[in-house]
Amino acid sequence: MMESTVRTNIERIRNRIAEAALRSGRNVSNIRLMAVTKTVDDDRIVAAIDAGVDIIGESYVQEAKRKIEKMGRPIEWHMIGYLQGNKAKYAVRLFDMIHSVDRMDLAVELDRRAGMTGCRMNILIEVNTSGEKTKSGVHHQEAMQLIKEIAPLEHLTIRGLMTMPPWFDDPEDARPYFATLRALRDRVMEEQIPGVEMVELSMGMSGDFEVAIEEGATIVRVGRSIFGERE
Ligand SMILES: *Cc1c(COP(=O)(O)O)cnc(C)c1O
Repeated sequence: MMESTVRTNIERIRNRIAEAALRSGRNVSNIRLMAVTKTVDDDRIVAAIDAGVDIIGESYVQEAKRKIEKMGRPIEWHMIGYLQGNKAKYAVRLFDMIHSVDRMDLAVELDRRAGMTGCRMNILIEVNTSGEKTKSGVHHQEAMQLIKEIAPLEHLTIRGLMTMPPWFDDPEDARPYFATLRALRDRVMEEQIPGVEMVELSMGMSGDFEVAIEEGATIVRVGRSIFGERE
């Protein structure tokens, strides 16, 4: 795929985001587009940044490290993939936000590493809203407990929640899972837990980002609709 196609795709997605915001009475400025760039080559990432994308999402620490060292930080880099504890020390240095915190031992390690580098790390709690055994994320019924355990960690700020529903042909089928995440967000906000901000709902991908926006997404994570099918 050509770099000019990347720009055109981004413009189309921005229009669709604006329409979904309008339909649901939301302010479009509260919805950010993340370009998901796992396996995407550097030229097309640069094209996306040139087209105004200001969040890049990566799934693998090694791959992200190389790209971040090359392209720098005119934009934010977010980690959206499964994170192993032994990669925490790299993750806190590389990323502006980690969307995939789903267990206490990972949070403890991120907190320790963030403390060593003297920074405070923004994280989202990844929630398994479907209960599928194969999915990462904390089960939605255990999420409140995990959030309360992580909240006191001094070098982490919980900024919100992330989910990835099962794959469906019809994006409407994903709606209940997005609604579950939003309802959880509302319940966490009611608890007013110190250290927990709950401003972000990271949900919606190429196939279902419009439904996610209707259900309150603040960050949509789009890969294939920008860059084409991955190899
Ligand atoms: C790959 C990926 C995406 C993007 O999916 P597309 O279908 O390419 O838009 C979003 N979120 C996560 C966590 C991913 O791993």
